[in-house]
Amino acid sequence: MSKHQFQTEVTQLLDLMIHSLYSNKEIFLRELISNSSDALDKLNYLTLTDDNFKNLEYQPRIDITLDTKAKTIILSDSGIGMNEEDLVENLGTIAKSGTKSFVQSLSGDQKKDSNMIGQFGVGFYSAFMVAKKIEVTSKKAGEEKAYTWISEGAGEYEIIETAKDTHGTSIKLYLKDDETEFAEYYRIESIIKKYSNHIPFEIWMDKEETIPAVKDDDGKETEPSKTEINNTQVNKASALWRMNKSEIKKDEYKDFYKQISHDSTDPILWTHTKAEGTIEYSTLFYIPTTAPMDLFRMDYQPGVKLYVKRVFITDDEKELLPIYLRFVKGIIDAEDLPLNVSREILQQNRILETIKKSSVKKILGELKKLQTKDREKYVEFYKTFGRVLKEGLYGDFENKDALLNLVMFKSSKRDGLVTLKEYKEAMQDGQKSIYYITGEEEAILRNSPLIEQFKAKDIEVLLLDEDVDGIVMPMATEYDKTPIKPVNNSDIDEEIKEDKEETKENEDKFQSVLEKMKEILKNDAKDVKISSRLNDSPSVLIYDKNDPDFQMQQMMKQMGQDNLPAVKPILEINPKHEIFEKLLTQSDDELLNDVSFLLMDQARLAEGMKIEDINGFAKRLNKIIAKAL
Ligand code: ADP
Repeated sequence: MSKHQFQTEVTQLLDLMIHSLYSNKEIFLRELISNSSDALDKLNYLTLTDDNFKNLEYQPRIDITLDTKAKTIILSDSGIGMNEEDLVENLGTIAKSGTKSFVQSLSGDQKKDSNMIGQFGVGFYSAFMVAKKIEVTSKKAGEEKAYTWISEGAGEYEIIETAKDTHGTSIKLYLKDDETEFAEYYRIESIIKKYSNHIPFEIWMDKEETIPAVKDDDGKETEPSKTEINNTQVNKASALWRMNKSEIKKDEYKDFYKQISHDSTDPILWTHTKAEGTIEYSTLFYIPTTAPMDLFRMDYQPGVKLYVKRVFITDDEKELLPIYLRFVKGIIDAEDLPLNVSREILQQNRILETIKKSSVKKILGELKKLQTKDREKYVEFYKTFGRVLKEGLYGDFENKDALLNLVMFKSSKRDGLVTLKEYKEAMQDGQKSIYYITGEEEAILRNSPLIEQFKAKDIEVLLLDEDVDGIVMPMATEYDKTPIKPVNNSDIDEEIKEDKEETKENEDKFQSVLEKMKEILKNDAKDVKISSRLNDSPSVLIYDKNDPDFQMQQMMKQMGQDNLPAVKPILEINPKHEIFEKLLTQSDDELLNDVSFLLMDQARLAEGMKIEDINGFAKRLNKIIAKAL
């Protein structure tokens, strides 16, 4: 026998489970059945693909045995099983990064934490909501030894070697005194029918049935009534995705989602396809309501499982759908793939590629439908997953138009989010492009000097304050034949300039000041120019139309491209601002020097950048304050 301590996060999670105010305790059964179903899937796959397992004879099934008197429930499967190492690894630690960070983020406030758990798959450990003690006896397929893992959920567990005839796992729950309802046949049967009716494997239970007394014509009993115990299959085991759409009820779709996703909230929508023709396959995809914890982690768990002819192949292939659809959960079941496909082959397989392509179109189409039919619900979806969906603009050229119709943005003129279509419909007469500004904070963007002229002309500007915007938006250069342009681009000048003559006049008028400033700022600015985009602010920084802007440069740095040459911005000055009138009459070079740097620095601040030489900034400012006083 060996004693082990749970990993800290497990103890935390167990503590929460055991003292949980979580009302929906019955889900523990769904979680255990889901684990068994996965274990059967894995073994099924091995028997078809691995010579060592080819001769293994077994009936893939799950058996549940109830003992009302002893208050126990046993759930057995003939799946892959676990050896000693697996038991330690799987039932003593939390391996999944998302789960781990979820547990680490728990606040200690039980009510709050319990609410969070509701939206979160907790797997095996949820059995401690109803059990005071759990024994897991398991024998790994192809191995000799069997082990029992025992725990009361308090800090530690032990593992002992045991004997077990067949491979697979058997989990015995000793129910808490107030949870004995879970040893009742009808209670368990209804939970199985609710959540696990359509998993691809059979679930069997002993059912006590009363055979009525047999009476003869006179009403005399020839045989008394008796009870019989019959082993019966409880669920349909129909692999829901293989059924005809017309046979499936809404609730069945929803419950199946919960079974495969470990998510307790209903999905926003689902789409079920049975394709027949050159390539035969079934797909069932769900869009969840809530985001999983690992959505933004590199090592996120993909949500789509691949089956071939109902046989599970993998749930660990990130390329079944494009990465920007990583929030989608569901199943792809292909008819014409070999069962023993390797990863490398999977990724270049023509059939899968075709399925992937039409799946993406289908999913994007469903989202479009939702946007048209129920905008409010779509906005909810977009707030949760829009940040991910937008990534698609970067790589998926084939679906760019569809994606451009799905993305939404904050706006300088309206509350809430707008689509590009809505933007276009509201464009001013003569407006040539769709304009946007990127940055880190909405408040800074709203007040940016870069959009002063747009505001003055009542032109709408999209406010892009998410980190991906700087990368994906340069890829979106056009929507429905209208160019999409960032406002900090040197190109824009031409489009919003009021009067070309006036600009020319100003250039002549301020030429000497511009020349001097250019010289003073030669290390910081590529050029110093007259601006036509400013109203109130004296200066603004923009970028040459071929240069990456500040956000883009930040992003490239974050991606590890440290040694890029610094790209200097262009400083534009506002000829209408009194500072420049006054500078014309100045001959104090030191003052012009200070003013130039201050104009540069305040433009940086207004656009959410940092001032590098804070000391110099403060000194110059103080000098000028002193002078003014
Ligand atoms: P999850 O199922 O979300 O990974 P769990 O805590 O429910 O998390 O289970 C942890 C791991 O334990 C599983 O990933 C699996 O490897 C293993 N496991 C659980 N139940 C079984 C079972 N019945 N048969 C084989 N392995 C199992």
